[in-house]
Amino acid sequence: MSNTDRKLANLYRQVIRKADALRSLIVAASKFIHDHPELGEQEFECSQRLVDELRAHGFQVEMPIGGMPTAFRATLKGRRTGPTIAFLAEYDALPTVGHGCGHNFIGTASAFAGIVLSDVMNSLNGRILVIGTPAEETIGGKITLLEAGIFADVDVTLMVHPSTETRIYYSSLAAQVIEIEFRGKPSHAAASPWLGINALDALVQTYVAIDNLKKQLSPSVRIPGIITYGGARPNIVPERAVGQFSVRAESSAALSDVIKKVKACARGAALATRARLSFRIIDRRYDEMRSNRTLASLFENRWRALGGQIRESSLKGRGSVDIGNLSHVIPAIHPSIAITNPETPGHSREFAHAAISPRANCELLRVVKTLALTALDILTQKQALKKIRAEFQLQRSAKSK
Ligand SMILES: [Zn+2]
Ligand SMILES: [Zn+2]
Repeated sequence: MSNTDRKLANLYRQVIRKADALRSLIVAASKFIHDHPELGEQEFECSQRLVDELRAHGFQVEMPIGGMPTAFRATLKGRRTGPTIAFLAEYDALPTVGHGCGHNFIGTASAFAGIVLSDVMNSLNGRILVIGTPAEETIGGKITLLEAGIFADVDVTLMVHPSTETRIYYSSLAAQVIEIEFRGKPSHAAASPWLGINALDALVQTYVAIDNLKKQLSPSVRIPGIITYGGARPNIVPERAVGQFSVRAESSAALSDVIKKVKACARGAALATRARLSFRIIDRRYDEMRSNRTLASLFENRWRALGGQIRESSLKGRGSVDIGNLSHVIPAIHPSIAITNPETPGHSREFAHAAISPRANCELLRVVKTLALTALDILTQKQALKKIRAEFQLQRSAKSK
């Protein structure tokens, strides 16, 4: 073993030792976020908790950033300039099911992946960022931060998501929520319904038409919907009815095509009922996730070497994530990490419970180490970033053809 190899091996060992030493602090931070579920854009206590930990370990923190009060960027500089690696921290919860998506795990993993590198960065070239990215479940905070230029100087982004399976190379669906509103005319619903125009009928017809449409589409397309307003009282012909549909497809291009077909379903119902129709785009479009295979394989090697298992599950469908948009601009990964059995539904109280279980905490520590060691690979192996970029450019040009 050469002197340089020995030095490198020492760096890796030092990072693992640091993570082990911080175990109780890591678990406590995850529990704190779990115990304080805050909805998107209101994650004041949780973002502050992570910022406090990062500052205590030598990070320079800017907060707020990108016009988002609960977003932050924490920076730890190395000896000289080099690759900039960003760990992305999420910490928003869901209404009624708290941390049913397990973002307590994500925020803690990303913040501490940065923190465990704090003792070794003075001997390395490059920069570690921990970026606090709010509101993943609603407005897509990462898209806001991307548009605000927060990622302009970032070379790679890494994060993980707790799940019912462990899948390193993750893909997600492009998604867009669309609101459909019908306006009708009120009338006595029993004495003179023929004098009214029933907006709820139009919406129900649309709901059924969309359900029928699914049979004509690729099996990966998803169009779950809800009715958010269906009338004031049963004895008045509903004057107004509103529904929201989350349209999801394999890619943004496929999504645009499905949205056209969904709109056609609503137009048909408007024609049949004489109700007036309007559409509104809710939240931003989430692009499909394009994981970088080179980066994913660096992660996978470290994960396996630390005793991590790969458990892909055929029961697991795909969701949509706001890192999808980032992954089209910067090489990114978003591995899923199993913290519970495949039958546990996501976005549920059971999943929230699992997100703080002893199993989750054990995987959390392994994730902190794996993320940090993957960053070390990029900072210490000259070829690593070159290969990641080459794959990214190739994927980009293939998609634009
Ligand atoms: Zn979620
Ligand atoms: Zn999530």
